Amino acid sequence: MYPASMQDSIKRLDATRDARIKQGKIPLLGADGKKELLKGFHPDYIESSMRALAVGPNKGDRTPHEIADVLEAWPIADTARFDTEHPKFDVDVLIIGAGGAGVSAALVAAARGAKVLTVTKLRIGDANTMMAQGGIQAADKANDSPERHYLDVMGGGHFKNIPELARSLVSDAPGVIEWLEELGVMFDKDADGTMISIHGGGTSRKRMHAARDYTGAEIMRTLRDEFRNQNLELLEYCAAVELLTDEKGACTGAAFVNLETQEHFTVRAKTTIIATGGCGRLHVQGFPCTNHYGATADGLVLAYRVGAKLAFMDTIQYHPTGAAYPEQIFGLLITEKVRGVGAHLANNEGNRFIYELESRDITASAIIRECQGRNLGVVTPTGRLGVWLDTPLIEVLKGAGAVKKNLPAMYHQYERFGIYMDKEPILTYPTQHYQNGGILIDQSGLTEVKNLYAAGEVAGGIHGRNRLMGNSLLDILVFGRRAGIAAAEAAKSINLDGSGFAHVSAYTTELKAAGVPAERRSPMLLPEYRRAEFKTPFPFAALGCE
Ligand SMILES: Cc1cc2nc3c(=O)[nH]c(=O)nc-3n(C[C@H](O)[C@H](O)[C@H](O)COP(=O)(O)OP(=O)(O)OC[C@H]3O[C@@H](n4cnc5c(N)ncnc54)[C@H](O)[C@@H]3O)c2cc1C
Repeated sequence: MYPASMQDSIKRLDATRDARIKQGKIPLLGADGKKELLKGFHPDYIESSMRALAVGPNKGDRTPHEIADVLEAWPIADTARFDTEHPKFDVDVLIIGAGGAGVSAALVAAARGAKVLTVTKLRIGDANTMMAQGGIQAADKANDSPERHYLDVMGGGHFKNIPELARSLVSDAPGVIEWLEELGVMFDKDADGTMISIHGGGTSRKRMHAARDYTGAEIMRTLRDEFRNQNLELLEYCAAVELLTDEKGACTGAAFVNLETQEHFTVRAKTTIIATGGCGRLHVQGFPCTNHYGATADGLVLAYRVGAKLAFMDTIQYHPTGAAYPEQIFGLLITEKVRGVGAHLANNEGNRFIYELESRDITASAIIRECQGRNLGVVTPTGRLGVWLDTPLIEVLKGAGAVKKNLPAMYHQYERFGIYMDKEPILTYPTQHYQNGGILIDQSGLTEVKNLYAAGEVAGGIHGRNRLMGNSLLDILVFGRRAGIAAAEAAKSINLDGSGFAHVSAYTTELKAAGVPAERRSPMLLPEYRRAEFKTPFPFAALGCE
């Protein structure tokens, strides 16, 4: 139910619907138009929002202050409390994080005979993977090819992507869809069994495969079932707080804190895969976010301290359409699929201002321009700004019942607040969604540190400066599987020697020299949302750290 103050704008939107349908597709912006729009309105281009890192392998590179604050920070745990001589577990492959990347890595590594242990901060599947809505890309139709997919991935990333990684992504894609189907993922299909595929922003072909608007939950459910069926070893509610290294700097496992019992323990591993996901909960530039509560950049911190280089950490993906109203769901994701099935973006006057399926950075910038630059945003009762997504148009274009059929989860999300998406539009504004960059990897997921791999959102380079929709669910499975295979194979010829925290001492020496305040600690583990009067000076005390 919208308040009276927003009703006039809805009337204007209703009044322009027929004309907008006749208008057809708004032409795509050319290279110069895109550049101008990004420079003027994309948050990545606000100079004061970033700083050059003072320490570590990316010293001198710029990154948002919120990310710099966790990278340039002191450990949360006293390394003396960890017994590195007597690890609690001794395994071939250690996987940190149990979202899509971690669980797929575990499945393939175990299938190669490796002794695998997966350790995760919350529960298996408490992860961004579970929340993914719109779909997963793969070029597996007759009118498509991995080569076309590659060009879209590179174009979306402004041709900054690491070509070998993009190539791996697209060439493994059809096989990943087959693997998921074999495991039991129920993708949307036509009556004759043909997989339904739709467009995503920046794609030249319809190659998005979906399970309605809960694709991630369907994939995660299936991977988790398989993981459980195979009785793979799992520790839940245990957070990695540091990696371990030998005297040559190779990774030899990790140190954990059990968040329930506060036990401090170590895992010795021949190879380690970081699959800890993204950094949405850092709320870069104060944006709301779409991510789960554990998305606090921990993997970046651990890898950076041990000497792994990061790539593209000066670019964040702001999803164009986060919920701007009602307040209770502010910042939550409105999947791109809403635009994929036909909804227009329109301003306070009911007019379109950008082709809806431009790449995300372009569309987000256009929305910000409409609201901040042109003063044509719709104002909510709490003073927030947004633009309409004309969801009733989906019913006009695709027939009665199309909203509920294509977007059942989203329909219920709004119904709870008395907003019926098939009859009323929804209000949106950009929200922090995805970390475009991350730990630099090669095609096997290997980082610049020996025996340390990374997969999933925590890794960087695949998507360049902007990821296209549906390519992250794909990337976590492509590189989760690649890292799982490579780590299991590499483990066969590794003999571990000593293990310790020499890299932590070296890093803290750098921090001291750079004058980083000792109160600044990381990894963050969980975001701090308590009201000021309840905040403790050092939140990790509750975890038994410090
Ligand atoms: C709302 C939403 C919708 C999305 N929709 C789509 C979509 O339609 N298509 C698409 O391609 N992409 C989509 N994405 C992006 C995509 O879902 C994610 O990028 C991807 O699932 C990340 O997978 P991951 O395995 O790398 O990380 P996650 O799935 O986030 O898993 C990371 C795991 O690591 C654990 N962890 C974190 N820190 C530690 C630590 N210190 N110690 C131990 N464990 C730790 C976490 O608890 C979690 O279990 C969406 C994302 C969101 C948030």
